[in-house]
Amino acid sequence: DASSSGKVCTRFDLEKETELRFEVEAGEAADQVEMELLTGMAEVFGSELNRNKKYTFGPGSKIAVFTWQGCSVNLYGKPEVAYVSKDTPMLLYLNTHAALEQMRKQAERENERGPRVMVVGPTDVGKSTVCRMLLSYAVRVGRRPTLVELDVGQSGVSVPGTVSALCIERPADVEEGFSVQAPLVYHFGSTTPGTNIKLYNKLTSCLAEVFSQRCEVNRKASVGGCIINTCGWVKGSGYQALVHCASTFQVDVVLVLDHERLYNELKRDLPHFVRVVLLPKSGGVVERSKECRRETRDEKIREYFYGFRGLSFFPFSFEVRFSDVRIYKIGAPSIPDSCLPLGMSQDDTQLKLVPVTPGRDLTYHMLSVSSVDDGDEDARKSIVESPVCGFIVVTNVDTQAQVMKVLSPAPRPLPRHTLLIMDIRFMDMK
Ligand code: ATP
Repeated sequence: DASSSGKVCTRFDLEKETELRFEVEAGEAADQVEMELLTGMAEVFGSELNRNKKYTFGPGSKIAVFTWQGCSVNLYGKPEVAYVSKDTPMLLYLNTHAALEQMRKQAERENERGPRVMVVGPTDVGKSTVCRMLLSYAVRVGRRPTLVELDVGQSGVSVPGTVSALCIERPADVEEGFSVQAPLVYHFGSTTPGTNIKLYNKLTSCLAEVFSQRCEVNRKASVGGCIINTCGWVKGSGYQALVHCASTFQVDVVLVLDHERLYNELKRDLPHFVRVVLLPKSGGVVERSKECRRETRDEKIREYFYGFRGLSFFPFSFEVRFSDVRIYKIGAPSIPDSCLPLGMSQDDTQLKLVPVTPGRDLTYHMLSVSSVDDGDEDARKSIVESPVCGFIVVTNVDTQAQVMKVLSPAPRPLPRHTLLIMDIRFMDMK
């Protein structure tokens, strides 16, 4: 088989409780790498592998194949690195899952709610991966946990610049991650919470409220609890945002990855009944450069419009008249307190809808399509706190004709007229 595809084949025999780590070279020209489990049992980030099935990983993938009992694996192609490590924190992660599962059992018995877990730590410690594992383990034992994605830089659920929630109903696909159906997505607008921390905290509270409402009517969701993935910004307002999140979600458990100071600070500042746990990061987590993060973001947007692997989407391109839409930016530039109109606070300016006059500088910007239209003053107020129904990208602006051309996942007309501008831009190279 190896010869039929013309790829180099390398076999790895893994002892129990070890993992094979490999990375696929990044860049468009790079070759993908295939992986096949030959004997024994193994998993990738909490999802079990089928034997004799070839899994394909594209450029830039960083994968760990972990085995509890021992196994052998073939790699086809030329990974940038591939090695077996005996030193993994997997047992600690599994124990964490076991503890959460105990809490769910207790919740079931005592008619209470299941664990709400917040995963925190600096960038590149494997937060998203730990969330993925804990969620996959939980569904594998029949739970229906919710993933709350607060990482506006590298969202695992929707495009960058958003926060979201997703009910998890099956383990993550080994190659593609969680299947994203009907997520609840809110517009934030940029890739770091710092650009508008008030808005970030507000949206965190919105998600918490929606999740709590769902728990009230859905017993399985309540018992399953949630796993909250956060940003890697853990100082200053970033830290305050974590404390805010813990309080608004009423989290029971905080998992701190590889950051002792953060662990101590949270232990000090959170109520005593919150269990704060320090966990090591995996040596397999690779640091990602700014460039690499940008590429991942671009890829995520491309996926939104064009689909992924076997599933291709065919986006539409059409013209939208300026007069048919209303474009807003959330948050006015801050002004000194002394200059604020009477009765207005900085909070108000950061959550304010500021009308945007369409111009050439709109080109390449992503726009969120709000789920509400700004019919009257009340509706306008609710826009900031309402979910979005999709995204478009402006590909061209004609100020003379007063129209803009957009890339959209659905044909015209746009489902709503209220558009929210993001700082994020996307240049379509297709
Ligand atoms: P960020 O703060 O940027 O969101 P993060 O802390 O959430 O980062 P992850 O996205 O979970 O980090 O992990 C970074 C990369 O490391 C991912 O590509 C992931 O696939 C890879 N990775 C995680 N664990 C391992 C491992 N044990 N072996 C090899 N690669 C791993």
